[in-house]
Amino acid sequence: MKKVLEVDNLSVSFDTFGGEVKAVRDVSFELSKQETLAIVGESGSGKSVTAQSLMRLIEMPPGKFVDGSIKFDGEDLVLKSDKQMEDIRGKEISMIFQDPMTSLNPTMTVGRQISESLIKHQGMTKKEAHNRGIELLKLVGIPNPEARINQYPHQYSGGMRQRGMIAIALACNPKMLIADEPTTALDVTIQAQILDLMRNLKEQTGAAIILITHDLGVVANAADRVAVMYGGKIVETGSADEIFYNARHPYTWGLLGSMPKLEDDNVDLHAIPGSPPDLLDPPKGCPFAARCPYAMKVCEDHMPEYTELSSTQKTACWLLDERAPKVEPPESAIA
Ligand code: SF4
Ligand code: MG
Repeated sequence: MKKVLEVDNLSVSFDTFGGEVKAVRDVSFELSKQETLAIVGESGSGKSVTAQSLMRLIEMPPGKFVDGSIKFDGEDLVLKSDKQMEDIRGKEISMIFQDPMTSLNPTMTVGRQISESLIKHQGMTKKEAHNRGIELLKLVGIPNPEARINQYPHQYSGGMRQRGMIAIALACNPKMLIADEPTTALDVTIQAQILDLMRNLKEQTGAAIILITHDLGVVANAADRVAVMYGGKIVETGSADEIFYNARHPYTWGLLGSMPKLEDDNVDLHAIPGSPPDLLDPPKGCPFAARCPYAMKVCEDHMPEYTELSSTQKTACWLLDERAPKVEPPESAIA
């Protein structure tokens, strides 16, 4: 499949009063057409900064690109002017946010918000844009779209607003859709529906999707590939199956262990004790060392390299070094 996105050695920092916060450190990943990549991690792992960097939504300064490239359709977004980025945003890359109310305009009907981008970016007439708007609302599963298109966001339910926002994001047929915690504010049933919808849209529109989430449970049915971020770095990446059934990084094990298991009545959440590293002064070795039950001396002093476990799975952990003791995943991390 054709590569839509190639991120290479991306590092993004923020200059703050206390010093330089190294929010994203040497991150590389790719995305193909019609593929969904989930970027998973706790808050402060760098996942949202990564997503915002792709959209060039980081305020600079205090933010800055320290290193690396973001090739979208072969062109480096890091080098684009703000003006060029404005064209790319909303036309080729769209983003949907956690809280629809912050990105939907309360003073405009949903239909008008869809039409605006169709008129601006695709040169449609008002009538054409209106008809396309109805199609899009239908596509995202909004009932009675002919009437709903003339309503304001406050007349929609929470789940419908999320769908409305997705319809707006899809209006220009983007090649890539970035969804930052798109379901966090929704109840479980609606969450499942929105993720289903995103999966179908990928098939129907061919768009590549980046799904940002702190919840590995959300990923199981929605993503083709998963990148696990911790302390500003990707610590493990693989196909969804590899991450769920053959994870090799202790942090991924921790995330798997903190997922509620459906068959268990007495849900025993193994939340990972401790807190993420201070990115003002990131550890020189493995970012997870302070919380890792398997940490060895080498982990504190040296950053582990990636070990390629398959053509798709890469894991940065000293346990994969042949000299390390053999460690099996804990019971709680087994699906
Ligand atoms: Fe744990 Fe060491 Fe692996 Fe880091 S490198 S995850 S500290 S075992
Ligand atoms: Mg976030």
